[in-house]
Amino acid sequence: MERSALQALAQKDFMSRDELESIQLKRLKNIVSHAYKNQALFRSRMQEKGLDDTCIKELKDIQKLPFFKKVDLRDTYPFGLLSVPMEDIIRLQASSGTTGSPIVIAYTKEDVACWQEATMRALMIAGIGSGDILQNAYGYGLFTGGMGLHYGAEGLGVTVLPISSGNTERQIKLMSDFGVTAISCTPSYFLHIIEKAKQLGYDFKKMKLRHGIFGAEPWTNEMRQRIEQEAGIKAWDIYGLTEISGPGVAMDCPARTGLHMFEDLFYPEVIDPETGEALPDGTEGELVITTLNKFGMPMIRYRTRDISVIVKGTCECGRTIRRIKRIDHRNDDMLIIRGVNVFPSQIEAALLTIPGVQPHYHIIVRRHGDLDTLEVQVELSAELFGDTIRSIEVIQKKIGNAIKSIIGLAVTVTPVEPGSLERSMGKAKRVTDLRNS
Ligand code: ADP
Ligand code: ZN
Repeated sequence: MERSALQALAQKDFMSRDELESIQLKRLKNIVSHAYKNQALFRSRMQEKGLDDTCIKELKDIQKLPFFKKVDLRDTYPFGLLSVPMEDIIRLQASSGTTGSPIVIAYTKEDVACWQEATMRALMIAGIGSGDILQNAYGYGLFTGGMGLHYGAEGLGVTVLPISSGNTERQIKLMSDFGVTAISCTPSYFLHIIEKAKQLGYDFKKMKLRHGIFGAEPWTNEMRQRIEQEAGIKAWDIYGLTEISGPGVAMDCPARTGLHMFEDLFYPEVIDPETGEALPDGTEGELVITTLNKFGMPMIRYRTRDISVIVKGTCECGRTIRRIKRIDHRNDDMLIIRGVNVFPSQIEAALLTIPGVQPHYHIIVRRHGDLDTLEVQVELSAELFGDTIRSIEVIQKKIGNAIKSIIGLAVTVTPVEPGSLERSMGKAKRVTDLRNS
């Protein structure tokens, strides 16, 4: 793409709210009408509410529309929500199935282009472009991470290394040999890469790597700091989900006050997850997204189960598209322990405040009689682990107190040897729940 065309694309993040809202309204009317005509489930839900495809007069009217959930994709698996003839579909992708059986999403040529536009805009915010070499260590295949970043980077003229995840030693060797400047993968996989590189005697700070594009799983600000310090790079947060396209739905900016959602393509709302009521900007709730420009399987008011806030006000970077707060948990991650809601991210944040504690942990939930208990296994640095039993006990207590001060519950802290917990190549599995086994 020409330089001027790329600039015009980046400028879309800066258009006036009036212009943006008029595009959104036009697209919303169009997608509602398309889905009404071509998606039987949407049509019947609309009819149940006494609505038809002329019901959108202003943006706010979106609040009248029915919601869609993951279960609707499962119930209509594989192609029940398809809204164009199958011969217009050029790509199928499936979700990784973190929270149950996989779902499939079908893309027309235009849908792939829309997704590519989003990932291009995301990478441009991080300042990545022609001249960069991107090591794309997200999994390729049905998972959207690999293909999503690949198309985005290629569209910008970035040199792409489509290495996928896994084979960590080779990742590090090629990163060093090729002078890779940016990497994309899950934050947990990058932690593994950092650790392995150290073991192999590489010095990250001597490499050309400058940027990490990390997403596909929740990660805390504390984790971000650790990554940046250890690898000497800038760690950017990218958000997305298969149902809505894939990665590139929202992206960090240099101000780090939330992720800008490409809202001319993906319309965000936050709702009260209990009542379904739309909440004003600035209030936390469940993120709901409508695809404004995706026709193969449009998703209208899709409930993501991710908890966030639409950040109020304008961003100091000047982009006018709204931000969502970084997503540090999804509804499904919530553990209810003795009546208290606990998220793994809270435990991660507590752990990483303590020097010498490694960013590798695992949470085990058990039931003893009527009592639920939490065990947090956490790796210590080699120096700490090799220390006297007494000093390990001291740190164990410190960790326990730090967690208790955040979640309000006493937990069992089990310090474990560095390198002993399972490493992930994709999305990390943080919790083992033994309560029903
Ligand atoms: P699933 O994990 O549901 O099988 P996906 O591979 O499509 O399916 O992953 C999408 C989910 O991953 C999102 O709904 C969200 O929970 C999580 N996710 C993606 N990017 C981020 C991010 N940057 N921060 C936190 N969570 C993220
Ligand atoms: Zn910004």
